[in-house]
Amino acid sequence: MVTKHLTDEEVQQYVVDKQHCEMKIVEHMHLCGECKSKAEIYESLITGIKQQPQRTFNFDLSKLVVQQLPSPKEKASERLLFRLLLFIGVAVIGTGVYFFEGSFIYLFKGVGAILIYLIIITALTVCIGLFIDMYKKYNNEMKLLDSY
Ligand SMILES: [Zn+2]
Repeated sequence: MVTKHLTDEEVQQYVVDKQHCEMKIVEHMHLCGECKSKAEIYESLITGIKQQPQRTFNFDLSKLVVQQLPSPKEKASERLLFRLLLFIGVAVIGTGVYFFEGSFIYLFKGVGAILIYLIIITALTVCIGLFIDMYKKYNNEMKLLDSY
């Protein structure tokens, strides 16, 4: 004779996963009408939740995101800057190879030559950094002007 009803958690466990339920829960379900009706309510609740349509936005999200993205025109100018920097880098290395072509051994032996070359590289790096900074400032100001 069953004296105690199942708890809500036990009924839910039975509804969700009958196979891995404890034997005493399954036995109680077969004997007790009250708990069985509880289980049926939970079952209809769960199927109701599963059948609900997925929430969707009432606006086109992807379109909004695309609008927020920077325009390809800006990317083109950035690409140009990158190419310019790449060209400068290649030019610096190229001139280095050209000037020290026959004297690579001396280049690595003579500290003076390396020192001069390092100074040139440092100066160029600073110039490039300043140029990038200026370019960014210019871009930001142009954007500010465009927004008015
Ligand atoms: Zn019961």
